[in-house]
Amino acid sequence: MSFYYLTPVKGDMPAHLLETIVSTRLDFLKAIYKGDTLVYNEYMVEGSIYDNVGHFMLCIVTILTGNTAFSQFFLKAETELFKRRINTLSAYDLRRFAKRLLNSIKRSDDTPSCEALKVLCQHLVLKNLAHHISISHNTNCSIHSIELNFKQCLMFVASRQVEMKQGMAKLPCGKWLQYLLSLFNTNLRHRISQTDVTPLRSDPRITDMLNKIRKDLIPFMSSNTEVLLSRNVDSSTKFFPPCMLNLHRNLRARHRLSHTQRFFYSLFLKDIGMPVEEAIDFWRNEYKLNPNGTHVCCHSWEKDEKKYLYGIRHMYGLEGGRKTYTSVNCQRIQGSDNACSEGGCPFKFDYQQMVKLLPGCPDNVLSQINEFKRKKQYNAACRTYLQSNLKTDCDSVSFSFTPVKYYMIASKYEMQLK
Ligand code: SF4
Repeated sequence: MSFYYLTPVKGDMPAHLLETIVSTRLDFLKAIYKGDTLVYNEYMVEGSIYDNVGHFMLCIVTILTGNTAFSQFFLKAETELFKRRINTLSAYDLRRFAKRLLNSIKRSDDTPSCEALKVLCQHLVLKNLAHHISISHNTNCSIHSIELNFKQCLMFVASRQVEMKQGMAKLPCGKWLQYLLSLFNTNLRHRISQTDVTPLRSDPRITDMLNKIRKDLIPFMSSNTEVLLSRNVDSSTKFFPPCMLNLHRNLRARHRLSHTQRFFYSLFLKDIGMPVEEAIDFWRNEYKLNPNGTHVCCHSWEKDEKKYLYGIRHMYGLEGGRKTYTSVNCQRIQGSDNACSEGGCPFKFDYQQMVKLLPGCPDNVLSQINEFKRKKQYNAACRTYLQSNLKTDCDSVSFSFTPVKYYMIASKYEMQLK
């Protein structure tokens, strides 16, 4: 098995062993992250079954928790682990690594950057090249090179580290290991942002495990997330993505939201840092008011307090099946039936409605947004709006875009600008 982790291992394993593997790997990654000395660990032997299982299980944990700070920690620590492993390979081991990877590539053709990875591995299996790379190789060396489509190595093109000819980039051997590292990172980001683990959300073995390791995750979850108090929601809306701003305005105007939109908005507030007691306070303050205008919801806090309290506590995993709910992603919001009404992605609304939800957006940015909107590229339109507000370029904006991610980036940059 390769420690590039293209494919997960198949088979059965007792749940208690799975928990041990996950928590041991988490501790190991924390040590890597802090730069501590690493000690031998039977669950972390590179390329072993435990190593593979631990990696994929932590990917699941990362997706299920949906926490930006934890995702960043995981990506950074796993990439650093991969780097350390690659840097200690002898020429013989490097060839074995490349050979195994080529076999895995044959079985997983849907992974991004597989074509580039294949070209690289086809060179690394060659005895003279593996030897050349692994013996104190200089990063400026250009004795050998591989040719790649420029789109497969944009990072190197942007920093002018490659020669270009008719759309092909010539990547010198001094950069091959750095390139391998960037492919690993891209592949991991893709896995975390694109894998659908919905059925696992209600699997008791997984929720039990998550509950057990939750205390280990708290330092990551709370480090970047300020506590959001009910009374501060209005002032925080300046960091809200347009979809959540729309829900907030609707709620404040009519004091009611439909069931689904209330669910989406509650989870968003929870994931940006609202504790359960504050959530109860927030919803109580709105639902004790009479609904304004015509609204399908005829409930009130006074009459249905018990039901509301249960619903909120359930969302925080404190009632019923104690499921881990995380806020919904853009795809789900954009695909919801009631787009253009109470909820939905405003970039799908008609132009005038959309503009009302983009306060202070300059005309030139609006025309760029409209262009993306016309092509149905709603996430790109939203990123353009966010970047125009931040007035800076931010690489991480493009990765697995969600309303929570939007909020985290907007509030973080605001803090840095102060
Ligand atoms: Fe919300 Fe996503 Fe639409 Fe932005 S792109 S408004 S975050 S649903």
